Amino acid sequence: MAEPLPPTRPRIPGSGLAKGLAVTLRTMTRKTVTEQYPDTQPDLPPRTRGVIGLFEENCTVCMLCARECPDWCIYIDSHKETVPAATPGGRERSRNVLDRFAIDFSLCMYCGICIEVCPFDALFWSPEFEYAETDIRDLTHERDKLREWMWTVPAPPALDPGAEEPKEIAAARKTAEKLAATQAAQTAPNEPEGGEA
Ligand code: SF4
Ligand code: SF4
Repeated sequence: MAEPLPPTRPRIPGSGLAKGLAVTLRTMTRKTVTEQYPDTQPDLPPRTRGVIGLFEENCTVCMLCARECPDWCIYIDSHKETVPAATPGGRERSRNVLDRFAIDFSLCMYCGICIEVCPFDALFWSPEFEYAETDIRDLTHERDKLREWMWTVPAPPALDPGAEEPKEIAAARKTAEKLAATQAAQTAPNEPEGGEA
């Protein structure tokens, strides 16, 4: 047999209205959190997924991003070029030259896989999001546009105090120090042999 329902408390007339007014008064005294976009630009976190920037100089045309993109919305064209040997008798090398790099943002689902898989740090998130278009074809951003987005990518957050220096920075610093030492040695005045006459 079903359990009898608990007795309901008698309703006080006007209590609902009083509760509603209490909520209104409480909310009126709080600081407003609504951002008046577009009059006020939102303060977005640095890792916001707005648009993708391409740092072309780092791209080796390995095609990994285009292969891994689940939406197939990255279009890359390239050709091979022969680089002459750096030293006499050395071997010629071939390298990929980028002809086209485009992302169709009408298909992109902002998963970030392309950025994650790029082994050469050529793709970055920018928090910019104001690129709506009236023609869907304009949402395919070619390499020049993707490069422009690159300049809106925020600097990475500072390392924790005492954190290990990143490998890339350590390698770049050592190369710069070595180069500076070589240049200093080359530009130093030659000491006359046997001292002063
Ligand atoms: S964010 Fe995702 S969907 Fe968009 S281009 Fe990169 S891999 Fe493709
Ligand atoms: S994964 Fe990176 S390096 Fe390779 S093609 Fe894409 S952007 Fe270029």
